[in-house]
Amino acid sequence: MGTEPQRADDERRKVTYVLPVYEEAENIAVFHQALTEATDQRPDLDFEYIYVDDGSKDDSLSGLLGLREADPRVTVVSLSRNFGHQLAVTAGLDMASDADAVIVMDTDLQDPPRVSLEMLTMWEDGVDVVFAQRRSRQDSVFKKSTAWAFYWVLDKLASIEIPRNTGDFRLMDRAVVAEVGRYREHARFLRGIVAHVGFRQEALLFDRDSRHAGSTGYPLRKMLTFAANGIVGFSTTPLKMISRLGFAISAISVLLAFYVFGVRVFDPDSAVPGWAFLGVGMFLLSGLQLIMMGVIGSYLGRVYVEVQDRPLYSVALAARGERGPGRAVR
Ligand code: UDP
Ligand code: MG
Repeated sequence: MGTEPQRADDERRKVTYVLPVYEEAENIAVFHQALTEATDQRPDLDFEYIYVDDGSKDDSLSGLLGLREADPRVTVVSLSRNFGHQLAVTAGLDMASDADAVIVMDTDLQDPPRVSLEMLTMWEDGVDVVFAQRRSRQDSVFKKSTAWAFYWVLDKLASIEIPRNTGDFRLMDRAVVAEVGRYREHARFLRGIVAHVGFRQEALLFDRDSRHAGSTGYPLRKMLTFAANGIVGFSTTPLKMISRLGFAISAISVLLAFYVFGVRVFDPDSAVPGWAFLGVGMFLLSGLQLIMMGVIGSYLGRVYVEVQDRPLYSVALAARGERGPGRAVR
């Protein structure tokens, strides 16, 4: 990495935009215009724009093919059906393996193209992941409050720190793109994966605009699935909570036993025969059951983590000694 001011032509660096599109027919032309106006300010870089049509039912695909006719830097990928934003981005990342840096952004003009130029500057200063963090956003109160609640829960539960108020608008160095590509889990939560990968990550604050035209492709149902993927994908805490609940209920049964004992001693006439046994027994048994379920849950959690089959680690630099079998790699 690092920036040498003068580069020969064959050493020009390539920046690829990965642009998921779902029913954005009204936005595509305006978006591409705005994006290229921004990238034209960096003639020293080569750009590719990979548009991934995520099974749109409107005219998005023909619009994209039209862009490709007019601009040879445009690549169009069309998925066979709607796979969802996270997989559309993944498909684009998989095609961007020759890029020195990849920028993922939405195509509804909510992510301003000029912000991606600032990302490029930070990348050139040596940052591997620049994630755009919303200083403000023009969304409904409902969307804002659900997003807040989601990040609050995620923050409490997840095993790694996933930055708040970020979307998938981010720049990734090629090393990071390669690592992210090794995470092949099906229920994907990309911003968690990128956080998991590590490397030098920095936030860039920006003001998120409102959608240019059309409506959100993230209705409540998709949002809930997405939130569940984020929480369940990066935490086995809910499984462990079963045990905790079990211990709490068992503790209640002990308190109840004391209470029963007290009633027996101080007010023996008020007790209905058998209630003590039933009451204490009920709490004790359900508590024990939950503890046992929690034990099963913790094994299940391990199985789950193994099945995800994530890479064990990601190497940022390996500088081998003179006598090692390979040269220094980055
Ligand atoms: N998108 C997609 N597949 C989907 C839903 C959305 O590729 O199933 C794209 C969409 O075209 C946009 C980006 O993902 O470029 C973000 O979607 P959207 O604007 O609908 O989400 P919001 O900004 O409301 O969270
Ligand atoms: Mg949007």
